[in-house]
Amino acid sequence: MNREDFPMLESGVIYFDNGATTLKPKSVVAAMNKYYLEHTSNIHRGDYDAAIKTNELYDNVRNIVGEFINCDPTTCIFTSGTTMSLNMVVFGYMKKHLKKGDEVLLNKAEHASNVLPWIKLSEEIGIVVKYVPLDDDYELTFDNIVKSVTEKTKVISLAHISNVVGDVRDIKSIGEFCHKNNILFNVDGAQSIPHIKMDFKNSNIDFLSFSGHKMCGPTGVGVLVGKRELLEEMEPIIFGGGMNSYFEEDNSYELKTVPTKFEAGTTAIAEVIGLGATIKYLMGIGMDKIHEYEILLKNYFLDAVKDIPNLIIYNKNSDSGIIALNIDGVFAQDTSVYLNHYKIAVRAGNHCAKMLKDEIKIKNTVRVSMYFYNNYEDIDKLVEALKNSKDIFKVVL
Ligand code: PMP
Repeated sequence: MNREDFPMLESGVIYFDNGATTLKPKSVVAAMNKYYLEHTSNIHRGDYDAAIKTNELYDNVRNIVGEFINCDPTTCIFTSGTTMSLNMVVFGYMKKHLKKGDEVLLNKAEHASNVLPWIKLSEEIGIVVKYVPLDDDYELTFDNIVKSVTEKTKVISLAHISNVVGDVRDIKSIGEFCHKNNILFNVDGAQSIPHIKMDFKNSNIDFLSFSGHKMCGPTGVGVLVGKRELLEEMEPIIFGGGMNSYFEEDNSYELKTVPTKFEAGTTAIAEVIGLGATIKYLMGIGMDKIHEYEILLKNYFLDAVKDIPNLIIYNKNSDSGIIALNIDGVFAQDTSVYLNHYKIAVRAGNHCAKMLKDEIKIKNTVRVSMYFYNNYEDIDKLVEALKNSKDIFKVVL
């Protein structure tokens, strides 16, 4: 779909590394260029035409986010990406509200950005980080979450879609369960917001984070959305210009209200404008259409490779466009170097989910992650290359 919008595809690259970052359509780059070339100015400071225009565009992106994921636009905070958003939740809110012995439930398929901040917080204030066991398909189930909850569980923090095995977690049921049991629900939407429809208001999610660059938007920008009452209680972790009402010699100061108090300094203005453009672009296609199409591509791939004897696929049943595989006996990185000879871009490694090796019993996988601009010919070329892989060491060595 929409391949003509992505100039990078003209090089012939077969881009299957969408879990890492996505290609950018012309309209997103044009929106940022327009700001840079026609009305460069800082936000929330100037009274001249260019600044007024930039303010309007920047602040309107909160409304666009609000429409996209059904949230209150005034609770949409612009950050530098999912990693920053998650750190803001952990060190801005949780540090103040959790105490020694409180339990936080994660799982071993989580990305480093949703594990390390918690480990650091446990070092600082003595919270206990626990891991919900995954099922035989390496997926996180609602039942296993419920079984892992104790009286001390105060937070469940998880990715809506895992970046390694691509399972779509049952956000609705987990949110409802958390709500009933007074547990905070923190969702990492880095891999889900670009691919499936989100309804923040009706999901009982307390905090939701995502990144622009994984949804055809620019790098350096992301979003944190939270329930208003929680954001009002949350402390900024960065202080500076733009977010304060005053500060005095006697150390008194007052911060602005949500969301401005979380956006200290000059933010990524062009990127926020680019984020607005990419969200409009995705809404123009339709999130349901994107998800359905990715599943068609995935099933087409699974069907085409079912007779390749030495191909191991770890997540046949997951409901997203992420496929984790290995060629038996071949180091994952050798496979990705081999595929690069066919101009096929995939990702090899542990995908920042370093503890998943405890469950899969292998350290690295090759990740094929699809997006709406991939097509059936892309898959055919990948399948062909995998079929020829008996020659892999002739190519790689
Ligand atoms: N969580 C998940 C599930 C991810 O896949 C990623 C990116 N690979 C992140 C968090 C971090 O996102 P970013 O690097 O954009 O901050």
